[in-house]
Amino acid sequence: MKVGVLALQGAFIEHIKALRELGAEAVEVRLPEHLDGLDALIIPGGESTTIGKLAVTYGLIEPLREFAQSKPTWGTCAGMIFLAKDIGIDRQPILGVMDITVNRNAFGRQIDSFEADLPIKGLEGGDFHTIFIRAPIATAVGEGVEVLGALDDGRVIAARQGHLLATAFHPELTADRRVHQLFLRLAEDRP
Ligand code: GLN
Repeated sequence: MKVGVLALQGAFIEHIKALRELGAEAVEVRLPEHLDGLDALIIPGGESTTIGKLAVTYGLIEPLREFAQSKPTWGTCAGMIFLAKDIGIDRQPILGVMDITVNRNAFGRQIDSFEADLPIKGLEGGDFHTIFIRAPIATAVGEGVEVLGALDDGRVIAARQGHLLATAFHPELTADRRVHQLFLRLAEDRP
């Protein structure tokens, strides 16, 4: 399994480390040709406006969109924003491939970063320690989207739509590799 990690900005090194720990081949993606031959892709957390601007500069928007339309792609935090169809802002470049409505910086200034133990569907062995850093939230999901995790108030923090996975939190910043395992399983299931 060869997995790319978009390496324009943000927490890409941590994803690469997690993938290698699990025995996957992990490569940094900075240019369109780096997508060639990849089985799957992770779009990391960081700052979605910066990732978007750099993706435009390097001619990556359309190649990334095409990749994510057909191949397993997982967005964490800013990556979730980047995958979403609707973020309520027109000017910010996004891929717009996943049928979720996302609210950026959903937790405002007061508790813009926090940690919590939450159940995530598809993970065995109990709750996952979720780390939220100026995190987004999905306020609505389309029909084909399965909710994998939500806060007590029902707001969605993890979702899957076929070969697409989105998490509002940062699994790569913990030592727990279960969400990475889940993504690799999802990617392996694809023909
Ligand atoms: N607040 C950031 C954004 O809007 C996301 C933060 C993160 O990825 N940790 O892009």
